[in-house]
Amino acid sequence: MVYDAEWHKKYYLKNKYKIKNYQKTRRAEHKNEIIIKRKDFYQKNKGNILEKNKEWRDNNKEKVKENNRLYYQGNKDMILKRNQEYRNNNKEKVRKGKIKGYNKNRDKYKEYQKAYNKKNKEKIAERNRKRYQEMKIKLLKIVGKGIVKCVQCGCDDVRLLEINHKNGGGNKEMIGKRSHFIKSILDGKRQIDDLEILCRVCNARHYLETKHGQLPYRIYYDK
Ligand SMILES: [Zn+2]
Repeated sequence: MVYDAEWHKKYYLKNKYKIKNYQKTRRAEHKNEIIIKRKDFYQKNKGNILEKNKEWRDNNKEKVKENNRLYYQGNKDMILKRNQEYRNNNKEKVRKGKIKGYNKNRDKYKEYQKAYNKKNKEKIAERNRKRYQEMKIKLLKIVGKGIVKCVQCGCDDVRLLEINHKNGGGNKEMIGKRSHFIKSILDGKRQIDDLEILCRVCNARHYLETKHGQLPYRIYYDK
């Protein structure tokens, strides 16, 4: 009997589902055998398979990228949870890895940081402004013991408020050590009894009066 390719093709197309079903059942019946055979095949041809896989990945970079993206989207929660667990269980390893990675790519990181800063100049400035405002309000609340107002005229416009040293000596403590001064108040390490809140205007008068004695000014905050 001669092998009739045409006949086989026709037979296959006609009985496609039957054949596929049969194969499926057979596979299910011999599941364990198949797994063992596959493992065996993999072990025997490992080098070859890995090489072929790598070759395929190299030739289908876009496809790999897309597949990875789809996989990430479909399993985001699981992946994030797994990563978090790994980080929690390997803190020291992760820390060392970060340092190593930074050292290895230091120039790249610096360049990236520089480009990021340049690109997000406004955003960063805005963030810094906001942080400064929050810090200032916190500071004023401590010094004013909850009342954020000029103790002389009652001005409550945070932009205009300053911390005054009641007995002078502000310059001495502040110049070049401003951040230390602020931090020690925020940390509760510095007493605040010699400090008060003044607005810029009342602060100027206070400064002038320590220099020239009492001056004939009356300052009103007319909101
Ligand atoms: Zn004032």
